[in-house]
Amino acid sequence: MPGIVDRVGTVRGRPTLALTFDACGGPGGRGYDADLIALLRAERIPATLFLNERWVRVHRGLTAELARDRLFAIASHGSRHSPLSVDGRSAYGIAGTRSGRGVLAEIEPNQRLLTEVTGTVPRWFRAGTAHYDDVAVEIVRRSGLRVAGFTVNADDGATARPDSVRQRLVNAPDGAIVLAHMNQPRGATCDGLRAALPALKAARTRFVRLT
Ligand SMILES: [Zn+2]
Repeated sequence: MPGIVDRVGTVRGRPTLALTFDACGGPGGRGYDADLIALLRAERIPATLFLNERWVRVHRGLTAELARDRLFAIASHGSRHSPLSVDGRSAYGIAGTRSGRGVLAEIEPNQRLLTEVTGTVPRWFRAGTAHYDDVAVEIVRRSGLRVAGFTVNADDGATARPDSVRQRLVNAPDGAIVLAHMNQPRGATCDGLRAALPALKAARTRFVRLT
């Protein structure tokens, strides 16, 4: 949809990937994949972390710590993790917001909280479920945020098996924004990324944050 960024700039000769990790929060979603973050740090792989307000409220200190690490850019994954709509359209059975006011209620509280906790105003937004209608996208943009889509869904909400995560990463096209999760430590996201790294390194893959 127009207004949703789903690719990043590329360079000649080296593939570029923008890894993005969502932390969805809420029941069943407030975990923290410490191994994944440790792997990114050990390998010096930059990433953009999309944090939901509910997750930040549980992990306030951790959010501040992640924001202090220049490897990571902190972005917003909404307040209640609702699909973004002005007429209640749902995604995956999750009810969407029902009005322009509802869209703003999904954007503004987390924007304030993240600014307070990290000292930096987030510049990127990805709604819960990453589903939008066109008016909602325009409202996000007029709020001064860019809407982050994705090219590759790498982990199906952290339910994919390690080899599937590995394959999706290795096969991601040049300039892809890769969507995965950092809130499901029992998922296979970390193992899949670790397994993909030899091939990605052999290809001299350049990892970038959303900027
Ligand atoms: Zn999410």
